[in-house]
Amino acid sequence: MATFVTRAEWGARPPTNINNNITPENGGVTIHHYSGTKWAAADHAECAGQVRAVQNDHMDSNGWADIAYSHLTCVHGYVFEGRGEGRRTAANGTDPGNQNWYAVCGLVGGTTQDYDTITAELVDGFHHAIGRLREQGGAATGLNGHRDHLATECPGEKLYAMVQDGSLEPPA
Ligand SMILES: [Zn+2]
Ligand SMILES: [Zn+2]
Repeated sequence: MATFVTRAEWGARPPTNINNNITPENGGVTIHHYSGTKWAAADHAECAGQVRAVQNDHMDSNGWADIAYSHLTCVHGYVFEGRGEGRRTAANGTDPGNQNWYAVCGLVGGTTQDYDTITAELVDGFHHAIGRLREQGGAATGLNGHRDHLATECPGEKLYAMVQDGSLEPPA
């Protein structure tokens, strides 16, 4: 059972702007990974700091209003609250992608040959985040990967295969 970590709990900065222009009933949820190199923390005590670093990068380097993702999940089975339900994302790479799709990022990465272990807890975190975005955020049942919006390696071969074979679909 995944554990939800609120923005206050992970020490989020406030967004510089809030944009509620999203119509996820026309799309669903897009799956991301964070990195083309291994990224998962061995110790969960490091995960909140990773999420803060992602937010800092998105706000300070990319100039975005907030962390780009709707939610993030780690290999230890925790779901970190991102922009949240009812908020437009900045992660999906295209205007229609950000208009119609939420974004959930696994705090994992790597190459096809050398990838972080995709734990059962990570899969559980994806299930929890996706279910939440459907139940509380009005997302349609569509599930795809970042690469379905534009040319990118994200979310990597292993996670993308799990998008396609239904492994990331929340249990009924
Ligand atoms: Zn991505
Ligand atoms: Zn963790």
